[in-house]
Amino acid sequence: MTKIAIVGGGASGCLCAIELLQNSTNIEVTIFEKNKILATILPTGGGRCNLSNFIEDSIELSKNYPRGEKFLYSVFKRFNVSQTIEYFKKLGIKTYKDTSGKVYPVSNSSKEVREKLLAELIKHKNLKCIKKEITSAHELAEFDYIVIAGGSKGAYELALDFEHTITPLASALCGYITKEKYPSGVAIDIKGEPLLFTHKGISGPYVFKLSSLWAYKEYPFELNVPLFDICALKEEMQKNSKKEFGTILGNFLPKSLVKEILDEKNYHTKCAEISNKLINEIKELNLTVLEPDKVGETVKAGGVNLKEIDNHFNSKICNRLYFIGEILDVDGLCGGFNLQFAWSSAILAARDILKKIS
Ligand SMILES: Cc1cc2nc3c(=O)[nH]c(=O)nc-3n(C[C@H](O)[C@H](O)[C@H](O)COP(=O)(O)OP(=O)(O)OC[C@H]3O[C@@H](n4cnc5c(N)ncnc54)[C@H](O)[C@@H]3O)c2cc1C
Repeated sequence: MTKIAIVGGGASGCLCAIELLQNSTNIEVTIFEKNKILATILPTGGGRCNLSNFIEDSIELSKNYPRGEKFLYSVFKRFNVSQTIEYFKKLGIKTYKDTSGKVYPVSNSSKEVREKLLAELIKHKNLKCIKKEITSAHELAEFDYIVIAGGSKGAYELALDFEHTITPLASALCGYITKEKYPSGVAIDIKGEPLLFTHKGISGPYVFKLSSLWAYKEYPFELNVPLFDICALKEEMQKNSKKEFGTILGNFLPKSLVKEILDEKNYHTKCAEISNKLINEIKELNLTVLEPDKVGETVKAGGVNLKEIDNHFNSKICNRLYFIGEILDVDGLCGGFNLQFAWSSAILAARDILKKIS
């Protein structure tokens, strides 16, 4: 009987356990989870679980990962989006893709995804789930294979104990705390991507993307947020030359924001009398970004160095050790990419272990 330990019962750890248990009876799998099994799935996709993104080409899919892109070409060639969707279908989780390609369960419920994965897990008698935080390598000495699937909170020390290195960690897919504050709850659209003003600063998909692409940018920094399409505004001003500028600008921006950026006089001035200078002065919001808003952080950039694992997720330092999911130095943009990596890495690591023990 081969004994396999999985540290972390989140997305990748549980899928890895399922793949192992479904394909061998000659193993005993122990999941060590310090919190509740699969609780990390519940908040995903705002409770709807955006579990993948329908990009079939592995190279195109990999482009959505600011860290890990090249490493992922071969990963997604061997376990891609279609295979993931098929896998979930077999687990009783039917999916659909929305107009932007994001994949969700038909139930739109991360609770359902959790329940179906749990139901599959507990079918297997050779599975043990132990509520425990693993903090050192020696606690796992009795196991033939070890899979570390600790995500971004809690298992970096364990990786270090196995003599792996961790690339610098930084917040990604998060909001920003800014020096200047604008009316909280107000949203603007920047080329199709919403930006939301919060009581701490800014958030929303536009900011999430920046925080991922600029995860290692030094703080504080200046950010110029484009507010409107100048040509479209000027066209509208020409058509409504006798109307108040504030009213016309209100067709492009929320009224409360217009009142913040225009003084009384300019608000009530007729469009025909507004200078280009003023338009240029207000076309962008100049913000000072002080720091990432760690409370809303979705993923961590950085993690176990990819140079130290092979493309089966097997450690090059310790042969019986694997790392999967977010603990690795891989992170994707918003849109189901992080869970897709959790699933692909889990399946490929499990298959490598199964091959070795067969
Ligand atoms: C609010 C929110 C919404 C998100 N929405 C989406 C989304 O819609 N789509 C998407 O693709 N991604 C989303 N993500 C990111 C996604 O959830 C993660 O990338 C994914 O869960 C990573 O899977 P994982 O298995 O690596 O880690 P996790 O799912 O985080 O699981 C790690 C588990 O390991 C346990 N653990 C850690 N250390 C130890 C230890 N030493 N001993 C024992 N147990 C340990 C933790 O308690 C945890 O349960 C979201 C993240 C957040 C925070």
